[in-house]
Amino acid sequence: MTREKLYYHDNHLTTFTATVCECRKEGDRYAVGLDRTAFYPEGGGQPSDRGFIGKIPVLHVAKGEDYPIHYTPEPLEPGTDVICRVDWERRFDYMQQHTGQHLLSSVLMERGNWATVSVHQGEEYTSIEVEGEEISDEDLAEVERETNRLIASNLPVKTFWVEEGDLGNYPLRRPPKVTGTIRLVQIGRVDCVPCGGVHTSTTAEVGLVFYLGREKIRGRVRTLWKIGERAFVQMRENQRILSGLGVRYSVPPADLEERLDGVDRELFDREGEIRQLKGELLTHRLSGLKDRIDDKGILTAVISTEDKKFLQTAAMALLEEENCRLVVLVNDRDGELQWVIGSQDENALDFGAVRSEMLPLIKGKGGGRSPLWQGRGEGNRVEEFFRVIREKYGV
Ligand SMILES: [Zn+2]
Repeated sequence: MTREKLYYHDNHLTTFTATVCECRKEGDRYAVGLDRTAFYPEGGGQPSDRGFIGKIPVLHVAKGEDYPIHYTPEPLEPGTDVICRVDWERRFDYMQQHTGQHLLSSVLMERGNWATVSVHQGEEYTSIEVEGEEISDEDLAEVERETNRLIASNLPVKTFWVEEGDLGNYPLRRPPKVTGTIRLVQIGRVDCVPCGGVHTSTTAEVGLVFYLGREKIRGRVRTLWKIGERAFVQMRENQRILSGLGVRYSVPPADLEERLDGVDRELFDREGEIRQLKGELLTHRLSGLKDRIDDKGILTAVISTEDKKFLQTAAMALLEEENCRLVVLVNDRDGELQWVIGSQDENALDFGAVRSEMLPLIKGKGGGRSPLWQGRGEGNRVEEFFRVIREKYGV
């Protein structure tokens, strides 16, 4: 029995009747054969149709050996007549993706000899990978413009079968991947390729192509596109974002770039001011600390700051003072301690002794080398810690 592939005769057919030929269980699904079908099976980069056979959903359609196999979650009785319905929204979306891709591949070839290597029609966007080291955004914007001109020209999309030996009569963009009788798809006079997919009837049905971006991969460029209804949805979304930003920054969308340049400059200036104020704050804090260096050249002080680098910066600055031999600073944040010990004279401080005699008072950990040691600790015995170091080195 010959089984009719209705999608090849009428690409807009969505409802049809058929007879169930067979139904067998495969895992947790059923593989169903129909005597005629408008369900397009996955192939040639185009995903399969979905829809219903009677009231049972069609989850996936595969090419099969000789005829399409429909996968369903429930069995169908062989010999029964069924009314079938193709999910047209999905089908038309992929017809737009597929035909739009033919046009784009053709214009890419024509414009820069960028031959299509592979195509992916995804749920979100369609990608076309082409040969070429470098294709600029400007080039691809031109490809977009030219393709949209072809779409607006409302060119006919024709499909027909030819024998392999007659292929020389047609200006093919690429050679066929199959042998024998070959199906060709011709768009006006601009493109002719062997293809088994389902296409729109005219280029106008594609609607619009919209360039999204590109990625470089291994000496090739993957170009990303929104095609058909998806292009309009994307443009609407882009406008929503731009309008929202316009309201947020109180300028028309066209002035946003200038406005954001201004925001960046303001931010840069503020960062400069913050740096300067931090410097002034440090100077102020240091002058307070300098006043507390005692007559033996020792400074011990507890401070409380969020700035984790302050202790080290302050200790180094204080050691520059002529009258400062030894600096011991502790940053106390609710009993969580950070300590720094700095010594002007390399040989004045025996860190080994400090470690064993003093650090245990604050459960201190850490280390370093002359002139600076630092670490962490905890507890409330900081004053004891200071007293020991004064007794030991204040002579
Ligand atoms: Zn095609």
